Amino acid sequence: MLNIALFGPPGAGKGTQSEFLVKEYNLFYISTGDLLRKEIKEQTQLGKEAQSIIATGGLVPDEIIVQIIEKTITNNPNANGFLFDGFPRTYIQAYILEGLMIKLNTSLNCLISLNVTEEESIRRLLHRGKTSGRSDDNEEVIRNRLKEYYEKTLPVLNFYKEKGLYKEVNSMLSIEEVHQQIKEIIQAELSKRLLNIVLFGYPGSGRGTQGKAIAKKYGLEYIATGPMLDEEIKKGTEIGKKVLNLYENGLLVPDEIVVPLIEKKLENSKGVRGYIFKGFPRTFVQSYILDGLLKKHGSSIAKIIELEVPILELIQRLVKRSQTDECMPYDSSIEKIVQRLKDHENKTIPVIKKYQELHGVVKIDGMGTFEEVFERISFEIENGFKNLR
Ligand code: AMP
Repeated sequence: MLNIALFGPPGAGKGTQSEFLVKEYNLFYISTGDLLRKEIKEQTQLGKEAQSIIATGGLVPDEIIVQIIEKTITNNPNANGFLFDGFPRTYIQAYILEGLMIKLNTSLNCLISLNVTEEESIRRLLHRGKTSGRSDDNEEVIRNRLKEYYEKTLPVLNFYKEKGLYKEVNSMLSIEEVHQQIKEIIQAELSKRLLNIVLFGYPGSGRGTQGKAIAKKYGLEYIATGPMLDEEIKKGTEIGKKVLNLYENGLLVPDEIVVPLIEKKLENSKGVRGYIFKGFPRTFVQSYILDGLLKKHGSSIAKIIELEVPILELIQRLVKRSQTDECMPYDSSIEKIVQRLKDHENKTIPVIKKYQELHGVVKIDGMGTFEEVFERISFEIENGFKNLR
């Protein structure tokens, strides 16, 4: 999720800039002012309570604010992220926002302050008052709103400065220039996020070849449990010996062996744009483990891809591979090959189904030349980067 709070005195341009950002980053917009005006229009209990306070330019009590925000947030749990305008407006509300983010299992990325002088806010609000139809856009109420802002709202900045989440832009410039400055901040935020991909498919569907090439093209770290285990075998480590024995019996390697290897790989890879997992998760248990491993690094799965190849073609490819130097210990006989396909069918297909229900799985046709399949996957990865919020 990408969660941003736009901050600044009334008239700083929060509403105008929000309109761009909501579209560009597909965010869910939460303007407490708009929500309150809606409640007033519908003459709800909350609206009636807020009405007289808004009319004088004061701040509405936190109890009301929490109720309207909570209602909106919990009705939209699948949003790409939230853009807050006019909230948090007090130091207390900054804590409230923390709590709401925790409830959604997410956090605020940053607070962007639109800096304008007091005279400029007044000038803009008076100008807006001519057409906005807002009764609080008149000089007397404007002065009170600004007084509230400087007394109660400005201290919120310290909260975010201390947390290192404070960003600022010069909002005295043109709408387009301000927009550009905000975009730069958001792009920098986005580049911190990881594109984590799980690449599914039957053995022989091309996951390995494609996964490695995709990782190289997009600066992702390729995490394939199979090759990691093979490496242990090659080195002749204790783990390697155990693994070899399991392979020869066509069995899956236990999680106690696989997980520490992945953990090490995640810890040692710095500066990557994301991870691409191949051959993991293979079971329900491993799907939970993967969530846990990524969570530890403040991240999560961004995209799940399944390469689809018909069974007969798979057998053909695997048999062919077994006759080359690339023959793996686990595809040295037709029985072992069939056992692996069965394992995938019994243990991994249900995992893919679970992901299908939870996040959706992108199915990609794995037939055709390497380049054709590579292009199909690349297209999805690029979409993934665009949607990384
Ligand atoms: P705005 O549309 O953000 O300028 O808000 C208009 C009015 O709604 C403010 O002057 C306040 O009276 C009230 N309001 C909006 N957001 C809040 C908030 N987070 N806390 C308290 N009052 C708010």
